[in-house]
Amino acid sequence: MLNKAAQKSIAHAVSANFSSQVEFLSGIVRAKSPNPYTPQDSPLDEPVEKEVADLIFEKLSEYGFSPRYIGPSKNRANVVVEWGNKRARNSLMLNGHMDTIPPEGNDVISPYSGSVRSGKLHGLGSLDMKGTLSCYLYAAKALKDAGIKLAGKLILAFVVDEESGSCSAYGTQYLLEKGIVPRACIIGEHGSKYVRTGQRGVYRFKLVVKGESVHTGVSAWENGEKGRNAIADMARAINALQDLEIPYKASRTFPGRRPVFTFPTKVVGGSAMNVVPDQCTAYGDVRLMPGNSDSQVKLLIVEKLQKLSIDYEIVDMMFVPAVEIDTKEPIVEFLQKEAKEVLGYVPETKGSGPGTDGWMLIKRDVPTVFGFGPDGSGEHGRGEWVELSSLEKITEIYARTIASFLA
Ligand SMILES: [Zn+2]
Repeated sequence: MLNKAAQKSIAHAVSANFSSQVEFLSGIVRAKSPNPYTPQDSPLDEPVEKEVADLIFEKLSEYGFSPRYIGPSKNRANVVVEWGNKRARNSLMLNGHMDTIPPEGNDVISPYSGSVRSGKLHGLGSLDMKGTLSCYLYAAKALKDAGIKLAGKLILAFVVDEESGSCSAYGTQYLLEKGIVPRACIIGEHGSKYVRTGQRGVYRFKLVVKGESVHTGVSAWENGEKGRNAIADMARAINALQDLEIPYKASRTFPGRRPVFTFPTKVVGGSAMNVVPDQCTAYGDVRLMPGNSDSQVKLLIVEKLQKLSIDYEIVDMMFVPAVEIDTKEPIVEFLQKEAKEVLGYVPETKGSGPGTDGWMLIKRDVPTVFGFGPDGSGEHGRGEWVELSSLEKITEIYARTIASFLA
């Protein structure tokens, strides 16, 4: 529990630094970091987030912190800073991604403007989630300015390659494998109405069906001696998979939801109008509930396809498991309590979609909040923005939560 004097000095420091925070956020929004890649082709040698990483690194250094670049390559390095009692067993990580989705063609406002108009800061990534990154940095700065001493260790992790599908080995996963494993974690994805205590999972795969290619004019095809139509076989596979149901247990985090199997979402096949196609590929997308796995879905697919005697292969594209935490986890309760003091209401707990690296932490038994951050909007084609008054409040809530969780 923070005493009143500490609460006051934190609030004062957040507000005294806020114009610098807005200027810093403008800068990292203008620093482009669109990530158009998939988990399979995200390159190690392209500086996707590097400009943002360098700005964060410089600002942390300027404020007297000791940031480090930790990553699989120079161009895809995460920025990590530890502060407080570095040998403490109790630790808290605030984790957020530096990349954004690619700009959309119909974005009517300049996607990288970073400009401020009537209390809103505009630009791609301002809400998802560079605004949050600025809150992390200025929460730490406020604690420092307010003279707060932490008994535990604070870890700020600014990570790469999340928008490729929240299953990259370069970002959060890389840090965990290097032994940077906190006692608890907050991923401050936007929205202050809810504390997200779970996320649904996703499994994407492609089904490759093989046939035998032959010219449609030859007698071997006419007589059924040669050739097999891979697209016709795929049609049978598609039919067979239409009624596939994935068993699941009801979840408290996702009331009323169930696994959703969609196949196909995309089909590719054939080479010419007069050639029997020797290959057809179709993609599938499966939304998962806690307890569901990729191998479970694959077994169910195989069970259906076995009966068809077709030549096929299932190739994994990505898998993010559904995860949830107990809503009574200390990190949830600390965050709710501090949010109530600053916002005047308790944000309820709720589940979310599969969009964060949080499952990597859950796999290592680290209780993780999957979302609680600033408010704003990102409607398609209308530009993305973050509300400045909310940004300031969230910074204060993070600072108070760090101070009380690590007291
Ligand atoms: Zn995000």
